[in-house]
Amino acid sequence: MWIDTHCHLDAHEFGSESAAQAAQAQGQGVGMIVIPAVETANFSIVAELAGSIDNGCYALGIHPIYVPKAQEDDLRVLREQVAAAMSDPRFVALGEIGLDFFIPMLTEPAMREKQIYFFREQLKIAREFGLPVLMHVRRSQDVILKHVRQIPPAGGIAHAFNGSDQQAKMYIELGFRLGFGGAMTFTRALQIRRMAAELPLESIVLETDAPDISPAWIHPGRNSPDQIPRIGAVLAELRGLSLEEVAAATTANALAALPRLAMPAK
Ligand SMILES: [Zn+2]
Repeated sequence: MWIDTHCHLDAHEFGSESAAQAAQAQGQGVGMIVIPAVETANFSIVAELAGSIDNGCYALGIHPIYVPKAQEDDLRVLREQVAAAMSDPRFVALGEIGLDFFIPMLTEPAMREKQIYFFREQLKIAREFGLPVLMHVRRSQDVILKHVRQIPPAGGIAHAFNGSDQQAKMYIELGFRLGFGGAMTFTRALQIRRMAAELPLESIVLETDAPDISPAWIHPGRNSPDQIPRIGAVLAELRGLSLEEVAAATTANALAALPRLAMPAK
């Protein structure tokens, strides 16, 4: 079995095909798909989608790209909905949260501050409920590390990891796993491929980030969760392992990073 630890299955790119995409992935052995929320407006959408498919689970959070339009009250709504979702076995993490210092509009001083504020407040909610976090880390590795050190959640995943060896080591020491996906499938992505090959296997989880970060064989087309086994095959080849070994290890790692995933009655 495989787990896609990061998939925006509710994205408009999937139109009415979300459930069909999930079923197709299930046919390929993808036993679980983690669907992160991005803003309060899609909280109920991801929860309902996850509940309507065999292999769905979800996270709730405010994504850094949605911070500009987010209001203080959204944090209250998030906290309330997290509290309610704790009784739902399909709810597994706080996310997607993080910092994006790549998009120019988000790097202006006031917006940087607002992003940091929302990130920290969401880390506090994660701590309050003992939840892991799904983190978007873009040109912000060291700032993210600083804040998670100050407000440490119960682990989680640095998704689409693209940092240095030193940064990887620090995330791992803080109890995080690192998400690898489509970027690793490009032969020119030397650093990411080297890290995927050399980092401790127990620190690696697989993800598609579908519909984005399409693997080399689809690029620039729409990515989908059924690509996980083929992405896993790339990891197997990079590490000189069998497909079965990589499936078993990355599944165990995802369950360790997101313990609620292993809860019964899904
Ligand atoms: Zn995402």
